[in-house]
Amino acid sequence: MLTSHDFNTFNFIDFVRQNPDHHEPFSLEIDQGKAVFHDAGIIEFTPDQPSNQYVCLSCGVHGNETAPIEIISDMVRDILVGSQALQVNLLILLGNPKAMMQQERFLEFNLNRMFNHHWKAYLEADASCYEALRAKRLEAAVKDFFDKSPTDARCYHYDLHTAIRASKHQRFAIYPYLDGREHKAEQLAFVQDCGVDTVLLYHKPSSTFSYHTSHHFKADAFTVELGKVKPFGENNRDDFKQAENQLRKLVAANYHFNNDRSTDELNLFAVKKELLRISDESHLNVEDDLANFTEFEQGFELLSDPDEPYIVESDGEAIVFPNNKVPKGQRMALLIEPVTLG
Ligand SMILES: [Zn+2]
Repeated sequence: MLTSHDFNTFNFIDFVRQNPDHHEPFSLEIDQGKAVFHDAGIIEFTPDQPSNQYVCLSCGVHGNETAPIEIISDMVRDILVGSQALQVNLLILLGNPKAMMQQERFLEFNLNRMFNHHWKAYLEADASCYEALRAKRLEAAVKDFFDKSPTDARCYHYDLHTAIRASKHQRFAIYPYLDGREHKAEQLAFVQDCGVDTVLLYHKPSSTFSYHTSHHFKADAFTVELGKVKPFGENNRDDFKQAENQLRKLVAANYHFNNDRSTDELNLFAVKKELLRISDESHLNVEDDLANFTEFEQGFELLSDPDEPYIVESDGEAIVFPNNKVPKGQRMALLIEPVTLG
């Protein structure tokens, strides 16, 4: 299907476009080890030199988030031709091939709400639901990969995105809920080195891909928002260079995680409260296109509701992911507040 003669011209994005559903697995010997093309958008690299680092890089969980897809595609080509050093076990995932082909966020449902086995309920409702089948397949891929890691291995998963909504902090990461484990300074330092200046510490289990790998495989995992959504070819790759450089170092086992690095320059937020639609009259007093991390002053009536309004309790409280158009009982926004790590 692919030979070493093709490596120089290999384009991962085109390959996935040609094989968006499924292809028979095949493996290739490369100069630095082995590449196994498991399935549509799923490639595993194993270095000749054994490594106890297991790195999963995913992109395109939202199909129109093209910059991370371009970065990963270039890295795949460079590993194949040998210009990018491969010194870790590496799993590359392109999350939603069909949505990517349509340059859409998703076909039917948000794939990043389907992990941690949430796809099961979608499949019960519709056995052919594309995103649910894809979440199931991606979960199997990360399980196969991380199950190979010995107990002393380090496991990482960086799920790379770009955002539609404006953000006061252009590059930010979500540190998934750790089920009681400690946040790691070295991981915050890593995302800082990727150019991220803001991290939201999530407060509970969720259905995102990064929570899935964090929870099930104890991977150091993040959802990383690297910038703005643009069509293929329109990304200014210089804007993403800092992140790309660190990811390339990571794959070359050339990035040195450092627990002593200060997080003073990082804007750290924790979730204070979920603002839910209590009644039909619940209303967030913000513009629909409000930028994420917009802060409010104490006393502002952020959420109007006859029974349970929310008045901002202290300066600096902010919200992310506001949405006035959700049904009763669902989340209208996450209320967050600045925190420091203890
Ligand atoms: Zn996304």
